[in-house]
Amino acid sequence: QVKPTYEPLNKLTVLDVVKPLAFFDESEHSQLLVKEIGDGNLNLVFHIESALSKKAVIVKQALPYAKVVGESWPLTLDRARIESEALLKEAESVPHLVPKVLYSDSTLAVTVMEDLSDHVILRKGLIEGQIYPQLANDIGTFAAKTAFYSSDFYLHPFEKKEQVKRFSNPELCKITEDLVFTDPFFNIETNDFPAELQSEVDVIWNDTELLKEVAQLRLSFLTKAEVLLHGDLHSGSIFVKSDSTKVIDPEFAFYGPAGFDIAHFIANLALNHLSQNAHAKEPFHRETLQTYLLETIEKTWETYSETFTQLWNEKATDPFAKILGVLENFLEKTFQEAIGFAGCEIIRRTIGLAHVADLDSIPQKEVELFYKKTALELGAKLIKNQRKLTNITELTDWIRGA
Ligand code: ADP
Ligand code: MG
Ligand code: MG
Ligand code: MG
Repeated sequence: QVKPTYEPLNKLTVLDVVKPLAFFDESEHSQLLVKEIGDGNLNLVFHIESALSKKAVIVKQALPYAKVVGESWPLTLDRARIESEALLKEAESVPHLVPKVLYSDSTLAVTVMEDLSDHVILRKGLIEGQIYPQLANDIGTFAAKTAFYSSDFYLHPFEKKEQVKRFSNPELCKITEDLVFTDPFFNIETNDFPAELQSEVDVIWNDTELLKEVAQLRLSFLTKAEVLLHGDLHSGSIFVKSDSTKVIDPEFAFYGPAGFDIAHFIANLALNHLSQNAHAKEPFHRETLQTYLLETIEKTWETYSETFTQLWNEKATDPFAKILGVLENFLEKTFQEAIGFAGCEIIRRTIGLAHVADLDSIPQKEVELFYKKTALELGAKLIKNQRKLTNITELTDWIRGA
């Protein structure tokens, strides 16, 4: 059965985890094919398939350090527990939008889950110019339902505080605190940008008005335990096919400010929108893609606010829930803060430690630099003007005009 102590799995020992689960028939045990498929920065991911039935499962295991850097960057195994528990929690309200968890073991730091290999990672699909009609509706629904059902608007205060404790995730939050909200705004050695961007970066580092707003957003991230967040909702954490969306990889889950997840999704769509000026060669196709991306941003926010409003009207237990303007106030604050968070994500993906392929894969250096400069301007504009926006189409106008 399950081993009592942690050890990193390999293509052989991973079978000791899978075989006792009765997912595969015993007659298949000698016919299991194992592949290591992880492309992420932090963890091991194995794909185990039966050569007989073609059934497959995924085993994801946390390593005691960040895979991308190596053993010099230790990282808690508790993130595997957080990931499993977040997937199960999300499945209570949006079972169709997350991989099904088949088994988890916090000692081995393992989650065994449904195989989604018939999906593609959204970032890859978007860079290739694909369109996913359900995406906005699915992500808006995911964010609204997981937020509402984890919030004080719905939960008993004792239950809410229990959940906050359960999803306390200091080490992974620290990564976000540093990589998203701190390092890109200072001259820190782990930042990563070409020398040609130095003057644009200096503008950011010297913009007191901007830094004041970032400090405020960072404090909000540190202190506001409003809702259970995915915590890492970029387009590499979303699996898609034409008729299905699955949100994976919630190891950064924690209680934070409500606008955070939507912000990261929108920021990543905005970065793809910018990059399509280079990737989509054919003007009509480019126009179609970019229009789709902006409509997706708009529809995601609309779905989020409509879904949240409906849940509020039907299920809110907050004593102020029926007072006119209370919900509107919450949604407006969430929206405006999301604009600010999106600005931070756009800037850090351009000059911070971890980039996005959308911009980095632009083949011509000059073009890549041009759109990175544009991204920095857009990010700064969003951060500085977050409270001036009241309507999602003002945001998409800015992205279109960038
Ligand atoms: P990390 O935390 O290391 O980023 P992810 O959970 O994002 O790990 O998974 C890394 C990669 O492994 C994904 O981009 C995807 O290619 C593959 N993968 C993860 N989960 C599944 C799954 N349920 N089905 C199929 N492939 C998966
Ligand atoms: Mg990932
Ligand atoms: Mg991850
Ligand atoms: Mg390049």
